[in-house]
Amino acid sequence: MKLTVLGKYGPFPAPGGACSGYLLECGRRKLLLDLGSGTLSRLLQLQVDLKIDAVLLSHLHSDHMADMLILRYALQQLQSHGQDVPVPLTVIAPDSPEEEFRLLSTSGVFDITAAQDKLRARIGDITVTLHRMTHPVPTYAFSITHEGRCLFYTGDTGWREDLAELCRGADLLLADTCFTDADRKFGVSAHLTASEAGRIAREAGVKQLICTHLWGGGPVPDVTLKEASARFPDTVVAEEMRSYLI
Ligand SMILES: [Zn+2]
Repeated sequence: MKLTVLGKYGPFPAPGGACSGYLLECGRRKLLLDLGSGTLSRLLQLQVDLKIDAVLLSHLHSDHMADMLILRYALQQLQSHGQDVPVPLTVIAPDSPEEEFRLLSTSGVFDITAAQDKLRARIGDITVTLHRMTHPVPTYAFSITHEGRCLFYTGDTGWREDLAELCRGADLLLADTCFTDADRKFGVSAHLTASEAGRIAREAGVKQLICTHLWGGGPVPDVTLKEASARFPDTVVAEEMRSYLI
């Protein structure tokens, strides 16, 4: 599998950056994991024909799905111009909040399966398992396996005792590390800190941790890396438009 980071920020981007979105290539199949603001343009740099097999949305906060509304236009326009585009496009997403879900579900270009805890989906030879997480809106982590390799993407989540068990043995843990230890005083229940992600990676015995969903408001990657790698040395901070082999 190959994971390319389209955007690594949340809930708003740093200057020149994009919010959460990832392209996952599994053999000849391609999945999108979230599609936040700024990521569709990045995707088009890599995949101008938009030949994507499915989109997995962890939740319907705008920093994870805003560009789905633009992808909707792109697919409609390209289709009306006679291009062979994947319509309807398979999407797995929570069916709440209702307003955001309605924007996606009434477009006619997405074939949406409502996310559920422990839902298992097959996309070609890829297996995706969903796990409900802890966030202000319904949110799911994805465990994605292909040819014996496993990626675990947390989506957005606060601390959960079961996270290490859920991602045990994954080859790559792509984790929400929106906060650092210094942010604890502001209340950090909606996201993990870098230290927490490092602890989960260590307890789960994953092979590598990628810290992502960095807060757009500050120059924190060095702090994120220091705090996560103090718990788990095989840590990197996500770099936009960089690919990681799994
Ligand atoms: Zn969120």
